[in-house]
Amino acid sequence: MKAIQIIKPGELKLIDMDKPVITKKDNVLIKMKAAGICGSDMGIYRGTNAAATYPRVIGHEMVGVVEEVGEGVASLKPGDRVIVDQVVSCGHCYACRKGRGNVCGNLQVRGVHIDGGYREYIAVPEQDCYLLPDTLSDVEAVMIEPTTIAIQSCSRAGLCEEDVLLILGCGVLGSTILKIARLSGAKIVVADIVQDKLEEALDNGADYVINISKEDLAERMRELTGGYGATVSIDAACTKDSLLTLMEVTGNAGRVITMGFSVAPTEVNQFVITSKELDVRGSRLQNKKFQAAIDLIREGRLDLSGTVSHTFPLEKAQEAFDFMNSKDPSIRKVVLTF
Ligand code: MN
Ligand code: ZN
Repeated sequence: MKAIQIIKPGELKLIDMDKPVITKKDNVLIKMKAAGICGSDMGIYRGTNAAATYPRVIGHEMVGVVEEVGEGVASLKPGDRVIVDQVVSCGHCYACRKGRGNVCGNLQVRGVHIDGGYREYIAVPEQDCYLLPDTLSDVEAVMIEPTTIAIQSCSRAGLCEEDVLLILGCGVLGSTILKIARLSGAKIVVADIVQDKLEEALDNGADYVINISKEDLAERMRELTGGYGATVSIDAACTKDSLLTLMEVTGNAGRVITMGFSVAPTEVNQFVITSKELDVRGSRLQNKKFQAAIDLIREGRLDLSGTVSHTFPLEKAQEAFDFMNSKDPSIRKVVLTF
């Protein structure tokens, strides 16, 4: 079967590999239908994702159809459309015992530490599969994974109605966080440097937007919050100075959520954290949030249509990655199809 492997940073290859077979009772064999390209996939390709090991078949936004099931599988049958959880945890370390398998001490993420979904077939345990609503196409269903990431960040932030949330960055991640965050009833400010994306954010329920290529973020945040600052900031931009910036514009007793994977040093100071008793919390991947995301879609509270901007067949992954690298302003979610 065909697969896309990142041989080493900067080198992407269409390879031929053995089709997986079901070796465990609880496994299902999935024929892949669509796989999203995430910022973190670009990071693995570029060599800037500190978690990745090479060579690697990447891809962690995996939508497919069940082709075959192991003898112990009860909840799935051939023909079922599913999305696959990317998190593989050990179940016995401290984090796992605390119910936080997404930061398992022996974490293996599909498409990062172990092979992921840019291949025609994948075999996974049935418990890692979630049934898709019929209303969603295979390509649109890919967006459930970024949605789980957004749910995780809002959950880590303890976001609620009385909060003033600042989302820094309005790419796919930031705009997905916006769609989830608005369900909390919080007041939401979105900051970015691309005016078109800010206009979209307003259409998608942002209360205020700040174009930080023209306006001073700290000054505007003070104006919008009566001087207090945000009570929650989520860093969906993850640039060199974004962490300190968010600490500065977040008010007393606020929470600052990081989502980046860069290992480049960034300057912060203790005063900004201590004086305001800020909670700086990481939000990594997602912790069993797939069903929650699917339920929001089923209930009609979340609409994922229109987020996928481009599709490429698996064989043209190089073209897709080059296109992602082009930073073309029309890029939202790019999906590989099978
Ligand atoms: Mn992703
Ligand atoms: Zn563990």
